[in-house]
Amino acid sequence: MTANWNAQWREQILPTLADETWDLIVIGGGISGAGIVREAARRGWRCLLLEQRDFAWGTSSRSSKMVHGGLRYIAKGQWRLTRDSVRERQRLLDEAPGLVEPMSFMMPHYRGGFPGPRVMGGLLSVYDALAGRRNHAFHDAQQLRFLAPGVKENGLLGGSCFVDALTDDARLVMRVLREARADGAVVLNGVRVTQLLREGGRVCGVQIEDCESGATLQLRSGVLAVATGAWAERLRPAEAAKQLRPLRGSHLLLPGWRLPVAQAFTFLHQRDRRPVFVFPWEGATVVGTTDLDHREDLDHSARISSDELDYLLTACQQQFPGAEVGVDDVLSTWSGVRPVVGSAAGAQQDKPSNETREHVLWQEPGCVTLAGGKLTTFRPQAI
Ligand SMILES: Cc1cc2nc3c(=O)[nH]c(=O)nc-3n(C[C@H](O)[C@H](O)[C@H](O)COP(=O)(O)OP(=O)(O)OC[C@H]3O[C@@H](n4cnc5c(N)ncnc54)[C@H](O)[C@@H]3O)c2cc1C
Repeated sequence: MTANWNAQWREQILPTLADETWDLIVIGGGISGAGIVREAARRGWRCLLLEQRDFAWGTSSRSSKMVHGGLRYIAKGQWRLTRDSVRERQRLLDEAPGLVEPMSFMMPHYRGGFPGPRVMGGLLSVYDALAGRRNHAFHDAQQLRFLAPGVKENGLLGGSCFVDALTDDARLVMRVLREARADGAVVLNGVRVTQLLREGGRVCGVQIEDCESGATLQLRSGVLAVATGAWAERLRPAEAAKQLRPLRGSHLLLPGWRLPVAQAFTFLHQRDRRPVFVFPWEGATVVGTTDLDHREDLDHSARISSDELDYLLTACQQQFPGAEVGVDDVLSTWSGVRPVVGSAAGAQQDKPSNETREHVLWQEPGCVTLAGGKLTTFRPQAI
């Protein structure tokens, strides 16, 4: 990834990486690593970012692509996360028009259902207050039928409408990396960090492997930032307590004409009361997402299970019964693994959706590991 790229660039630059002591080496070319290297390069640091596969290969190209405050985090009392998220949403809408675009969300309400229009209105007022602007409205049942033909009719009271944003997650990563490069950072893909080097109890560099040639090299750096998402524990000292709880989320992609939606819909799944989304995406319709423990090998791309497929199709049938969407309508699926930091007391006991999405920093001399967090909040996480 360079303006003066040519076929030999990689071969030329790789051996020279060991010629200097970098101010900062960042491991991981997802949104977290990209955000960190951009902030450091802006401050004039000599930075290098290393990604084992391709940029945004990990979770950062497999998210639900929403730049949002996470309304449900208010209900869980995670004020700071919601506040940071809505502020970042506004900032990204201002800084990256065309890449981060406003998206209207509708939550239909039904007689006897929860949350009702009043509770939702209250939540949205708090949401707006945190963002510093009013951005929601209630539409009665008749208006909703016009706005959302095909939505379940039985007991329909109306719908609460609010505005969040949508992006292309992989393109966002590329944009941030490009900005980092413009400020002098060197970013390389196809390079795996195999080991952290320590000297006198301090991390002082990394051992790397060129995934194309298999060649290995040792690099030195003043500070190291590990932003390897769901893989974050692999480079930690063996004695460090395991804290990450990898949680898989999957999505379905349907042809737009099979489930045409002009805006995003959010509603609680009848099976477990989790919020699910149906939203328009590049002429298709996306249904997401699930949230369950991912026990498979992280070195293989995560895949949807038949239970998840059934769960997401049930969500479509619940909210858009007339569309009769079935498995034959599914164009494709994608799944990502959330690098979620498990709750301290028995991480595996809590329901996946109860786990906080806030990030944490693990520190040891010379090295900081960023774990958890969200796409939306990549900038404050990086600072
Ligand atoms: C299903 C799902 C939906 C989501 N939806 C949203 C959403 O709508 N909005 C939102 O804000 N957030 C969302 N998130 C959360 C968000 O996507 C993640 O928090 C974010 O993408 C994590 O980015 P990351 O850079 O930390 O990790 P990753 O994107 O996984 O990047 C880590 C990178 O490190 C590399 N790496 C690992 N080990 C090494 C090594 N030894 N050497 C070199 N490189 C290495 C990996 O190849 C990978 O590319 C969602 C997550 C999931 C799973």
